[in-house]
Amino acid sequence: MVEMDAVSSNVISLQSVSKQYGNETVVRDVSFNVQAGECVVLVGHNGAGKTTLMKLMLGLTRSTSGSVEVLGGDPAFSASVAQHKTLGYLPESVAFYEAMTGVEVLRFYAHLKGATNLDCEKLLEMVGLGDASKRRVGTYSKGMRQRLGLAQAMIGDPQLLFLDEPTTGLDPILRRHFYELIDGLHKQGTTSIISSHALSEVEARADRFVIMKAGVMVACGTLDELYQQVDLPVQLKINVASGEASVIAERLGSDIDINKVNNQSFCLSCSSDEKMPLIRRIAELGDAVQDMHIIPPSLDEVYSHFMKGDQS
Ligand code: ATP
Repeated sequence: MVEMDAVSSNVISLQSVSKQYGNETVVRDVSFNVQAGECVVLVGHNGAGKTTLMKLMLGLTRSTSGSVEVLGGDPAFSASVAQHKTLGYLPESVAFYEAMTGVEVLRFYAHLKGATNLDCEKLLEMVGLGDASKRRVGTYSKGMRQRLGLAQAMIGDPQLLFLDEPTTGLDPILRRHFYELIDGLHKQGTTSIISSHALSEVEARADRFVIMKAGVMVACGTLDELYQQVDLPVQLKINVASGEASVIAERLGSDIDINKVNNQSFCLSCSSDEKMPLIRRIAELGDAVQDMHIIPPSLDEVYSHFMKGDQS
């Protein structure tokens, strides 16, 4: 997690933001800050308000109430247009002129953004489209269009990147390549806001998560902070010598919640408060324990906890 002065390094600040379409409130009283260099992931069911939040931060729509501040200004006002050059946006659905080649598309967007001296071929190389740069976009696969969308978002080295479900349509290798690109941008100080349904994919990559449920922010924090809020059990997996698992598990005592015993290992479940005392007891077993893995709750479990009771 990025450690910085919380006041001065906020690049985004949302205070009690609500958005209504007609009579429907699709974002309700949401507040959070994003610090420079952070990677914040927005998660939530379909229709939870993730894209609307992005559009509010991009100035593509205005809040009904509350304040949105991005890079020190309100992104919905034209006076802040200069700031837009420092923003990159990959929308959920990317659509390009089919008759243009990849490199022509990038030049077109670079022109719109006022990015001069941009090496579009190099940008296409970065996203793995070097060989297809002179092919018409109409001949691109879904994954290739998605990568062209990412290249478009990266035009002009944006300070802030908004990526709405960026890995949709990418195969596993391309997904990994995509996150390597994002990691590289973070090392240069880029801040990113990513909306995603791929929880296992973003789990280890985000600094913080904003969990949305029907327009309401139900949680915001690092994975560790979210673990503490939900207090889900931690699993410990103990490896022992072949045939010893049952005997050693019994030596630990009957008060412990032991499950999944097999020939060479067994699993324990405990609350986060019980974890360290339990680890000390396991250490007392000495050489009988060959290895131990601590398995915290997954983001998927944390997310399901916050969504409990939601039938949508
Ligand atoms: P998904 O995961 O499906 O992309 P999301 O979390 O991004 O969903 P939003 O696209 O922000 O959700 O939509 C939130 C709610 O706002 C939905 O009920 C949607 O129908 C509604 N909505 C979005 N844009 C508009 C609009 N322009 N006019 C009316 N309602 C809208």
